[in-house]
Parts: sequence; C-alpha cells; structure tokens
Amino acid sequence: MIKTDVIIIGAGPVGLFAVHQLGIKGLKAVVIDNLDKAGGQCIELYPDKPIYDIPAIPECTGEELTKKLLEQIKPFKTDFYFNERVNEVTQDRENWVVQTSKNNKFVAPNIMIAGGVGSFEARKLPLKEAEKYEGKSLFYSVKNKKIFEGKNIAIFGGGDSALDWALELSKISNVTLIHRRNEFRGAPHTLSEIKKLEDKGKLSIKTPCELVSIEGNESISAIKIKYENNKNEQIKTDIVLSFFGLIMKLGPITEWGLNMDKKAISVNPNNFQTNKKGIFAVGDICTYPGKLKLILSGFHEVALASVECFKRARPNEKYRFEFTTASKTIHERLGKK
Ligand SMILES: Cc1cc2nc3c(=O)[nH]c(=O)nc-3n(C[C@H](O)[C@H](O)[C@H](O)COP(=O)(O)OP(=O)(O)OC[C@H]3O[C@@H](n4cnc5c(N)ncnc54)[C@H](O)[C@@H]3O)c2cc1C
Repeated sequence: MIKTDVIIIGAGPVGLFAVHQLGIKGLKAVVIDNLDKAGGQCIELYPDKPIYDIPAIPECTGEELTKKLLEQIKPFKTDFYFNERVNEVTQDRENWVVQTSKNNKFVAPNIMIAGGVGSFEARKLPLKEAEKYEGKSLFYSVKNKKIFEGKNIAIFGGGDSALDWALELSKISNVTLIHRRNEFRGAPHTLSEIKKLEDKGKLSIKTPCELVSIEGNESISAIKIKYENNKNEQIKTDIVLSFFGLIMKLGPITEWGLNMDKKAISVNPNNFQTNKKGIFAVGDICTYPGKLKLILSGFHEVALASVECFKRARPNEKYRFEFTTASKTIHERLGKK
C-alpha cells in the first residue's frame, strides 16, 4: 500500500501542473497513467503541432509543453506509475484507496482526477482469435524490443508508430509492413527510409491489404492477408504488432459513484471537488457552468483544488496563501536558495 497526500489520475498537462501546485504547498503526490509516458493528449494526439494559447509562451508544440511541465516539477521528485489504469476507488474512513490494473494499491485523503477524455487504449484487432495471443506474440505497443530480435514480424498500420517501429525493428528482425491503403500517414522522411530498405530487400511492404486470420497454437506461426482483388497471401509470422491508433475510454471512472454530466464529472467550481469529499476532478474531465476545455483552464482548476487538498491532508495546519516570488518556504521546496 503506497501512502501519499494526493493520488493524481492522469499525467496529461493538467495532472503534471497539479504536481507543481501541490508541491509548492508541501504536499506529496503520485501520478498514475494508463499510457507509457507523460503528456496526455499533447503527446499522443499532437506532439508536433504548435500551441499558441499557453500564457507567456507564444508558441510551443505538445511535446515541448510536456517537457517544460516535467522540468518544472522536477524538484518534487514525484513517483510516476505508467502503463497502469486506475480501476477501483474505495473509501477507508477519511482516506481513499485506489487500485490499478497492475494491482498496485494507493491510499490518500485526496484523489485528483485529471483523466482528460478517459484512458487512452490501443484499438484492438477485430479477430476472435487475436485475444489468446495478446501479450505473447501479438502486441499493441513495444515495451522491450529485445524480445523481437531475429523474429518474423508483421507490423500493421499506416501512421507514425507503424513506420517508426518498422524502421527500428528491421535492424534486428525480418519485418513485413502491412497497410490497408497504398498511402501512409506517417512522416514522409521515415517512409522514404523504409522504401530504401525495401529496395535493398531488407523489409517487405504489403499494400493495400487487410488481416484475415491469425494461425498458430500456443504462439503465432503465420498470418493470412487479403488484397483488394480478394487474393489471399499467407505470411510466416512469429510476432504481430498492430498500430491501429488509440481510442479513449472513460471506462472505470463512470463506476466510482461520481455525479456525471454526459461524459464529464460535475464539480463545484469553488474548489473542483466532486460530490465525494476528497475526490477532485480537473482539466478536460470536469464540467461546471462555463467550462472551457483548454489547458489554461486546467491550470487554474488545479491551483484551486490543491488548496482544498491541503486542508484535507493537513487538518491541523492553517493554509497560508503565498507568492512564489516572495515565499522562502516555496523557494526551499523548489530547491532555490
Ligand atoms: C488536436 C488537438 C489540439 C489541441 N490544441 C489545443 C490548444 O491549442 N490549446 C489548448 O489549450 N488546448 C488544446 N487542446 C486540448 C488540450 O489538449 C486538452 O485540453 C488537454 O490535453 C487536457 O489535459 P488533461 O490533463 O485534462 O487531459 P489529457 O491530456 O486528456 O490527459 C489525461 C490522461 O489521463 C489518463 N487516464 C484517463 N483515465 C485514466 C485511468 N482510469 N487510469 C489511468 N490513466 C488514466 C489518460 O491516459 C491521459 O494520459 C487540443 C486537443 C487536441 C486533440
């Protein structure tokens, strides 16, 4: 059981800035995200696109904003738990207990839900037989590329993930890149590198075609694909990597007894508390009259919610409003002299 002052669900821009606002008030937080990295929508949906409405930053990409937010919270040495989905929230007297898909348990007087549009999850292959191979010889992300060394790998998809991994894994394995269209959506530079490898016979590209079936027993031995002209081809395959994009699932959040308004959590805009004391919702996932789904709104929301978190985590201390420019305590917390 991991004890802390605040459990933050979601490592998007709002969850990251929550760490800062809690940290300068002397509160410890942990951050849990279903993804394998921080940044939420900024990193998953538009890492290279410029954002123009972050105060005092005239222009920065989704990736740059994420890096800056991570740099800003470095002094607080926060523990991040990635690749874990928060499934269960239960009450234990004044505390909340959170359980994740990896069966980790966290306990704290406060939970801050910064879950955006829900947890990002890979779009799965629609084949019935796919499930039994998942995590063994069928993968939707690459965690450890070493397990793919020397294997026959079929990579499905037309976006950046499919292209990047086709290029990378072709250095250590025999890769076939398969896409349902002739055109790829991924970066043209990566595609031209891949085409060069194809010309040299170091990688195969199959388009336009779709996966028809997966064959094998304990693990995959072959796949069957179908071309537009209905011709089938069987390809010897040890590993299937599928990159058909991400879907967002509110999932378990709807089961925690919180008042919802359509797909968002209703909050009190004075402190962003939900109908459950000690559970707050901030960023895209919360709703109140006049809510704007903007990063800067989320930043404001965590500033106010963190004050209420302080009151619950330190019931015997008085909350004192302080400016970062002037407060010695905040300077110490930030590691400034
Ligand atoms: C294409 C595009 C362009 C945009 N441009 C702008 C712009 O110019 N300016 C602007 O202000 N906003 C912009 N936005 C909106 C902005 O990205 C969002 O307002 C912002 O990302 C919300 O941040 P968040 O931290 O609330 O949620 P998200 O960024 O959605 O992060 C939520 C995180 O929570 C995780 N999560 C959810 N549920 C769980 C669970 N149960 N367990 C574990 N983890 C969970 C998710 O995996 C995700 O990583 C844009 C959005 C898009 C799609």
